[in-house]
Amino acid sequence: MLQTNNNSGGKTILVAGGAGFLGSHLCERLLGQGNRVICVDNYLSGTKANLAHLRNHPSFSAVEQDICTKFAVGEPLDQIYNLACPASPPRYQTDPVHTLMTSVGGANNLLQMAAEHGAAFLQASTSEVYGDPEEHPQRESYWGHVNCTGPRACYDEGKRAAETLCFDRLRRGEVDARVARIFNTYGPRMQPDDGRIISNFVVQALRGEPLTIYGSGEQTRSFCYVDDLVRGLIALMNVDPNPHQPVNLGNPGEFTVNALAEQVAALTGAGGGVVKRPLPVDDPRCRRPVIDRAAALLGWKPEVALSEGLALTVAWFRDNLTPARPHRKEAGHDVTAQLVAKAEHR
Ligand code: NAD
Ligand code: UDP
Repeated sequence: MLQTNNNSGGKTILVAGGAGFLGSHLCERLLGQGNRVICVDNYLSGTKANLAHLRNHPSFSAVEQDICTKFAVGEPLDQIYNLACPASPPRYQTDPVHTLMTSVGGANNLLQMAAEHGAAFLQASTSEVYGDPEEHPQRESYWGHVNCTGPRACYDEGKRAAETLCFDRLRRGEVDARVARIFNTYGPRMQPDDGRIISNFVVQALRGEPLTIYGSGEQTRSFCYVDDLVRGLIALMNVDPNPHQPVNLGNPGEFTVNALAEQVAALTGAGGGVVKRPLPVDDPRCRRPVIDRAAALLGWKPEVALSEGLALTVAWFRDNLTPARPHRKEAGHDVTAQLVAKAEHR
């Protein structure tokens, strides 16, 4: 059983994956709203550093726990957010079996906990449930186009099965479950070695290295700033009645990878150019959310344009990374590792 502090005010909310990029922002926002927050994380792709500023908050507890193992919480919970799962393709493909088990078994453990507590449950699902989409842009009614045997399947199929669990338990009246289909989100506290495009490009630009473009760079993504996304998650968790359907959360502004590289280079004054790398297997060719449902049900839409969010992200990385000095590389040191170490130990 988890050891947790008591708190008299607001809701008591468990955030699984709270030490990650999105989770740490969510914990911060929920605490700011006067809630008690219990973060549960195994620190697989998140860090204690992401929570350093919350550590001494009287209403905050952090517990090291893998959600694949059943656990209990020693105080009544009002809400559970399940964000636990690596989101970056290289990270979730490192141990695909654990990713699948986290997505399905871990989600089921948390759903069971929500049922026992009578807590509302929000599942962080993903635009990856649409796979390499044959419908563009993507509405929630689209069933998707996923290669169930490919290297992305551990994540895509895991998240699809987790949605199934949520809606089965909802239909059976066991859990007040809600499902957010999150499109690519970025911002401060992404890990420098995370492997996703915006953190890669910004770190590379600040280090004066070429930006790595996978494939032609003509594939597209739609990028949502973290503050907008977190606002959407909280709105979906609290909307009454339960929508009984998944809700896309993302910014409909659509950019090619090449266009993003140009924006990052312009913003940082990077002079390293670009370098082409092979396109990962099953990399979706396009992605853009239709957010009519979120607008209608939640009154939600993103407010931060890519140019603005990128500037905030670059500023954060500038403060958290030391640009590599050439002689360090020449001396054979792993400069990336040093930069990562600096960020992680803050
Ligand atoms: P992240 O990798 O930064 O955070 C995930 C967190 O979950 C980390 O702190 C990690 O240590 C933790 N975790 C992983 N496996 C766990 C396990 N078995 N038990 C306990 N903790 C575990 O990723 P993120 O970008 O913050 O994404 C958070 C959630 O949102 C994920 O579920 C992801 O699938 C979903 N999502 C994110 C995006 C995005 O663009 N950021 C897009 C779609 C969906
Ligand atoms: N990508 C890229 N360079 C990088 C990292 C990613 O060109 O350094 C591409 C990747 O192939 C994909 C897009 O950027 O087409 C978004 O990749 P990311 O891993 O951020 O998210 P996802 O593929 O899960 O949407």
